[in-house]
Amino acid sequence: MRLSVVGCGYLGAVHAAAMAELGHDVVGIDVDARKVAQLSRGEAPFFEPGLQELLLAGLRSGRLRFSADPAALSSADLHFIAVGTPQLSGGAGADLSYVDAAFAQVLAHGKDGDIVVGKSTVPVGTVERLSGTIGRDAPRVTLAWNPEFLREGHAVADSLTPDRLVFGVAGGSRDDAAAAALAQVYEKPLRDGTPLIVTDWATAELVKVAANAFLATKISFINAMAEIAEATGADVTQLADAIGHDARIGRRFLNAGVGFGGGCLPKDIRAFQARAVELGLAETVVFLDEMDKINLRRRSRVVELAGELLGSGPAGRRVAVLGLAFKPDSDDVRDSPALEVACALRAAGAEVVAADPHAAANARARDPELVTVDSADEALVGAELVILLTEWREFTELDPERTAALVSGRRIIDGRNVLDPEAWIGAGWQYRGLGRR
Ligand code: NAD
Repeated sequence: MRLSVVGCGYLGAVHAAAMAELGHDVVGIDVDARKVAQLSRGEAPFFEPGLQELLLAGLRSGRLRFSADPAALSSADLHFIAVGTPQLSGGAGADLSYVDAAFAQVLAHGKDGDIVVGKSTVPVGTVERLSGTIGRDAPRVTLAWNPEFLREGHAVADSLTPDRLVFGVAGGSRDDAAAAALAQVYEKPLRDGTPLIVTDWATAELVKVAANAFLATKISFINAMAEIAEATGADVTQLADAIGHDARIGRRFLNAGVGFGGGCLPKDIRAFQARAVELGLAETVVFLDEMDKINLRRRSRVVELAGELLGSGPAGRRVAVLGLAFKPDSDDVRDSPALEVACALRAAGAEVVAADPHAAANARARDPELVTVDSADEALVGAELVILLTEWREFTELDPERTAALVSGRRIIDGRNVLDPEAWIGAGWQYRGLGRR
């Protein structure tokens, strides 16, 4: 099939390359000419395991190309919209201006019979609104929404072999032209047994925000338990193990720590609340405000713990921050708890030296004064306090004895509860986890 992908960021670049891998003819379009040039050379513009190889394979096959010119849309019959929907600068809602602009571009360069499929995460009601903006002179296109569930760090596998597919189409039925076209796009994963839900626009939009709201709630729930554990001397890791054995609860996403971040969960739960307010349903999702607050409190808690461990506070003290990305295997620092803690400590006067295998440049772009180094060892030399904030393997596998020889003070905060406290305490460290004894 001839496809376009409008917006080639963390979602769109991977989606475009994955669609080419599935055998389609794909043009990826982005307003950022530098990104387009990089992608056209087969260079991933951000760190995502396996993306570089997928890009090169697509470019070599001749089925994948990139362009900064929206007119390139006209070579495709089905257009995916994958542009950003960040939080509004002056409010909690989603900024839909990129989606609106991308949709207008597709209408400007599309033709009768084209299918327009949104992948961006949007508030419920957006597709209905977009369909109402199609002018009489515009081409007769069919509109659908196909929310994306890829996880950064696993985006290639998640795009090639998704755990489920959701098609939101006007009639909500498999007979819809857009549903049939999407079934052709995803013919391979569907043949391999990927579960498919064909539904209406509103449900498809809600599926994505509901999934993120649930995950955020699960993480914040265990972090609330961590707060209780801290006040009572209980251990949240053992608590999570114990409740996680209940199959109805499950152990996944019950890891207490410095909390969630990134370009999706935080802004999606805020946009969900803003949309609920518009719908007159503010009370229905008011709990999400608490989830957000619990999440943000964990960041402050790490800063507080740093002060406690250092005794006289962080001013003038050398602190090694391990990790800046919001999660391992990604270079994404959007709303990253790790970066926020690093910046807060720096603002409090600490001499922060941070290391992250892939996110340092993005972190410096957000905070040019942040000192970053290339390796954990360089950050650790002379540190009076070590804070692990992103669970990259090279940090979780640090050896307490070897690390002790580098630092000037054996104090460590395990912001992700991934280290073995006994091993660290045994090596003479003052160890603090979150919600851990
Ligand atoms: P991003 O900021 O990395 O990428 C957006 C891209 O769109 C940028 O490259 C930007 O230059 C481009 N763009 C903006 N306006 C454009 C236009 N008019 N024409 C062409 N390109 C344009 O954002 P992202 O993380 O890829 O997220 C995109 C959407 O996908 C968001 O709605 C997000 O919530 C959703 N999503 C993201 C993920 C993820 O893991 N990143 C997962 C699922 C869903």
